[in-house]
Amino acid sequence: MSLKSRFLILGSIITLIAISAIQAYLIYNTYELKKKTFAMDARNSIAKVYSTQEVDSLFWIYRNDFLEQLGLYEDSKITKPEVIKNLESKTNEVNKAFLKVYEEGIKENDIEFNVKIKISVTDIILLDSLSAVNDVFLDSEKDSAIFILGNNFSNEDAILINKGTWQKELENSKSFKDLHFKTQVYMNLVDWESFVVKELTSLLIISVLLFAFVIGLLSYSINNLIKQKRLAEIKTDFINNITHELKTPLSTLAITTKTLTNKYAEGQTEIAKETIQVIDRQNKRLQNLIDQVVNNSIGYDEIDLSLKEFKIAPFLEKIISDYKITLKKEIVITSDFENLEQKIIADKFYLGTAILNLLSNAVKYEGTIINVTYKYNEKTKQHIISVTDNGIGISKKNQKIIFEKFFRVSEKDTHNYKGLGLGLYYSSQIVKAHKGAIEVESKEKEGSTFSIIIPK
Ligand code: ADP
Repeated sequence: MSLKSRFLILGSIITLIAISAIQAYLIYNTYELKKKTFAMDARNSIAKVYSTQEVDSLFWIYRNDFLEQLGLYEDSKITKPEVIKNLESKTNEVNKAFLKVYEEGIKENDIEFNVKIKISVTDIILLDSLSAVNDVFLDSEKDSAIFILGNNFSNEDAILINKGTWQKELENSKSFKDLHFKTQVYMNLVDWESFVVKELTSLLIISVLLFAFVIGLLSYSINNLIKQKRLAEIKTDFINNITHELKTPLSTLAITTKTLTNKYAEGQTEIAKETIQVIDRQNKRLQNLIDQVVNNSIGYDEIDLSLKEFKIAPFLEKIISDYKITLKKEIVITSDFENLEQKIIADKFYLGTAILNLLSNAVKYEGTIINVTYKYNEKTKQHIISVTDNGIGISKKNQKIIFEKFFRVSEKDTHNYKGLGLGLYYSSQIVKAHKGAIEVESKEKEGSTFSIIIPK
């Protein structure tokens, strides 16, 4: 692939990664924003639930009780821990009623998400007439808060939504002037992440779909680009090959024309006869070349089969023996047929051409020992004809594309073998016309096996 194409692909991939990163960042930001808005909304909704008269009156039960306890404490009838203990035990009494009011409030306000609330006392401080701290019952700096209303969840995942101080002037007290009773309200949004994610689902789905679409489009374009480039290369190769093939007969014809027009040849019938034979041979060669291009480049749907049933073993034997006669080199062709009586329904001429193409390739690409096998697979009901050679073999990469029209393994990789890159294409089209498949197994420098598989 050229440097320009590589840059183009790399650039597209980097841009895609950048776009996805921006997209992910934007989605994350939206998520955070939604989370904040959701928390704010929840806070506002929940405020409506707990800032009601009913809740307030429940709260007053604590307050009044505490004031009563405080009186007893001042008269030294109970101790400080006992006051606190009493405050805690009051929870069991009041919380049931609070939770009921709370649940009703949730329903009334149409709150769809699961939200829990917790009210606790953090500080109870008594001041003297000079507003100095006189006594401390609870100090948030040292003591843990006392849970009074709601659900007692941990503060870790909770959000503080309100802090309040109930200040009470203690008119009847001798030692204390003021009471500071501080409370905190926390809310806990159960499963709120999934709630926010649910709200973002459509956005997420659209993003993922768009992303998949862009990736699909990009890979399609890159694939197309690679295909186009290969096609252009194949075409250039083909033009080079055919020009090369045409050169020899044309230059021979030019020489023969010169010979015939030469005045020394005038009246020399022997020379004329020989020259005409050369012209005839070159003419046939040219015709053959053109026939190859025209006939072998047709698609499977243009092949008109004339199907007949025949025994496959003698058919293959005949092809091999006829082919052997044409061979100039010393080549060993063996055969191994498993089912001698098996019949096939096929077009003898076309199937023969496909097998001959495989045989001549096996010889062309330096096979010296060639084995033709036939077997019938009972299970899959398939005829399998294979041609194995010990030639130069084909790399894994090229195995995938050798059946393409005009494709030839680049001359840089191999010696200069003559051909137009049509043999395997034509064979594959013939096999396809028989509704079969052609497969290759090969190892470089060791050899190849081409198999024609035809269904019964
Ligand atoms: P051609 O032989 O005219 O180049 P083919 O379509 O018959 O065209 O083959 C395509 C390519 O597949 C060839 O260029 C060759 O590199 C490779 N090839 C085909 N058959 C064999 C084989 N038996 N051994 C090694 N290479 C082969």
